[in-house]
Amino acid sequence: MSQSFEELAPCPQCGAEQTVTLHHSIDTVETPELKTALFERRINTHQCSACGCQAPVEMDLFYHDPEQGYLVYYFPYEYFEDENEEEVADALAHFENDGSLAIELSHEEGEEGQNTPPYLKTPHVVFSMEELLRYVAFRDLLFDQLGDENL
Ligand SMILES: [Zn+2]
Repeated sequence: MSQSFEELAPCPQCGAEQTVTLHHSIDTVETPELKTALFERRINTHQCSACGCQAPVEMDLFYHDPEQGYLVYYFPYEYFEDENEEEVADALAHFENDGSLAIELSHEEGEEGQNTPPYLKTPHVVFSMEELLRYVAFRDLLFDQLGDENL
């Protein structure tokens, strides 16, 4: 399911504070308009009403397409480049030694019980917004070409 929250944040350019809506996860069936917003770079973006600047807010994001049956986890690579070693350790703690995701997905996705589809446990991990958009575009192309015969 789609999850978001609101936060009062200063503009990175002019410092003016305003409330921004930030998204933890996007469900393309529940809220297809968020997919459109993602491709228009309006998801997790600070759009300042004072100076007009647009700046991405670096945060992780789940992208769930229940129709095509896949889950992508975007984790900003910038988290690993933090000068604070503890921050880097916290970031790495999101993952297992084999690079798979360590955090509890059933909780993140709000789905419980035995009916959880297996793909929710093995999300495709990407490290940039560009990579996320490319992967989604790629899956859309595959789906248009092959339909859901293999799903
Ligand atoms: Zn501003």
